[in-house]
Amino acid sequence: MHIVLAGAGHANVLVLKKLAEITKTRGDHLVLVSDSEEAPYSGMIPGYMMNDYKKHEFHFPIRKICERLNIDFIQDRITGIDLSNKKLQMKSKPDVSFDCTSINLGLAYKTSSCNEDNVIPVKPISHFVPKWEAFIKKLQQAPDTELKLFIVGGGAAGVEISVAIKEASLALNRNDSVEIFNNKDHIAYTGSRFADQNILKSIKELGVRVHLNQDVSQIENTQVQLNGSEKRQFDYIFLTGQTKAPDFFKNTALATTESGFLKVNEFLQSTTHKFVFGAGDCVHFAPQPLPKAGVYPVRQAQVLAHNLVNFEKLNNSIDCDKALCFDRYQPQKSFLKLIHVRRDTVVGVRPPFYLKSQLLKKLKRKIDTDFMGQFD
Ligand SMILES: Cc1cc2nc3c(=O)[nH]c(=O)nc-3n(C[C@H](O)[C@H](O)[C@H](O)COP(=O)(O)OP(=O)(O)OC[C@H]3O[C@@H](n4cnc5c(N)ncnc54)[C@H](O)[C@@H]3O)c2cc1C
Repeated sequence: MHIVLAGAGHANVLVLKKLAEITKTRGDHLVLVSDSEEAPYSGMIPGYMMNDYKKHEFHFPIRKICERLNIDFIQDRITGIDLSNKKLQMKSKPDVSFDCTSINLGLAYKTSSCNEDNVIPVKPISHFVPKWEAFIKKLQQAPDTELKLFIVGGGAAGVEISVAIKEASLALNRNDSVEIFNNKDHIAYTGSRFADQNILKSIKELGVRVHLNQDVSQIENTQVQLNGSEKRQFDYIFLTGQTKAPDFFKNTALATTESGFLKVNEFLQSTTHKFVFGAGDCVHFAPQPLPKAGVYPVRQAQVLAHNLVNFEKLNNSIDCDKALCFDRYQPQKSFLKLIHVRRDTVVGVRPPFYLKSQLLKKLKRKIDTDFMGQFD
């Protein structure tokens, strides 16, 4: 059987490890397709921006992992799926055939101004890292400037990015102004209003300015338009909201939501095409909508690996009842959110409880480095 893992998102990277041994024993052909040789682990991005980690410490070395496990690795951008002939279409290389595939491609940005040097989308993270490096170099080359740095989006990612930018600026003895624009009346969305208020207070104390109920309706050159009228100038703008699913989903017969996310059932299988599985931010889990967070694809990997291995049995209806052969994915009801409010301080939230502490920074570091340690 040809199993093709499309994209090196968190789920597929973990599936790779789990399937390597089984597929080899059974004589299956396992392939991973990704647009880059390394895939970033998002939980460590703010730490990387604040100099806690080097680049290699928060990247899955996927080409190397494939070589070690004797799995075929194809580096190219997936541009479509031919469902009739079961093939993934590539930007440069020949199509890749599959019997079943697992799609784990994350999110892309909606805005068209992302090609500008001063517009820095945080997703996809693989594109963010070189832009961040170029940005830091610019700060180092112009020590006497005071820049206006804007962040669009005040969710957990927007908060952490603003904290990391402010800390990086302070570490270079600079006094850049860092401002978040959020179109809601609060930030962080942890599930606890008290925690959200505490986070707001903490980042204001650090020196981040927060504008609530401010919708960034347009970005042009070095100017944003707010709520359709007021205009503000910036030097750099970081985008953390306004994401979308990969465009090509909509050009296929795969069932998607109105906004283009691949619909999967409780077996993480497309609701219309049983040989297509999916996980992570690019899917819509039909039984219940899930937030876009890395903890979900990490947990989905176990179910996905099991169902991909059992797909052939089920497909041929050999001794196999779907409910018995396939695992059901049951999302966790809640999870501990760990959000930086300073380089050395993290707010931990599991509603209704929350705690701000330097010890939580140590805990976060341990969780993240242990996770990445699996791939050494
Ligand atoms: C700053 C920040 C901090 C975060 N911190 C946390 C946290 O602490 N905890 C948490 O749970 N979540 C966190 N998140 C959210 C988390 O980033 C995402 O939910 C998570 O990365 C989703 O993983 P994924 O597996 O869906 O895909 P991704 O990790 O986005 O991976 C998708 C992969 O597919 C590749 N790809 C994309 N398109 C193509 C294509 N067409 N062809 C080939 N390859 C392609 C990409 O290069 C990438 O390697 C954070 C997000 C940000 C921005």
